[in-house]
Amino acid sequence: MMRLEINGWSSKITFSATHIIPGHYKCGRLHGHDYAINATVFGNIGPEGVIMDFISVKEFLRKIAAELDHKVLIPMRDTGVKRKGGSIQYSTNGKEYMFPEEDCALLDVGVASAEELANFVLGRVREKVHFPESVTRVEIGVDEGEGQGAWTGIDLDARG
Ligand SMILES: [Zn+2]
Repeated sequence: MMRLEINGWSSKITFSATHIIPGHYKCGRLHGHDYAINATVFGNIGPEGVIMDFISVKEFLRKIAAELDHKVLIPMRDTGVKRKGGSIQYSTNGKEYMFPEEDCALLDVGVASAEELANFVLGRVREKVHFPESVTRVEIGVDEGEGQGAWTGIDLDARG
């Protein structure tokens, strides 16, 4: 078993975005981070001497990063989020925000935390990236600033 690592910072799979973490004293206020998306692919070396062509994974992760770049990250599963015409109304922490929808990334998550972003990215990767048989596990890490991140992963053994 081997491991292929993609470092989002050195591979420039980064984005800057704004979020709010409800119920947090400091993070409950609108603020931003520089984020990086990291990935680790576990597997066996195939006939070409590699686990897989990881350029395609990098390119796909860059596409997701570009989608989120310079956006307000909106957790669509938060009951405080409402669509109003071309705007997103977000009621949280006893405050009300209104953002133009075009400035927002509408995410199918409950909280726009690094943890949930990692799950969101992993979901997209599972949906869209083809992994060869040699790959047994994929992990995605989302860093909020360097050296502070959340990781999630999934075993691919059970795929049909
Ligand atoms: Zn934050």
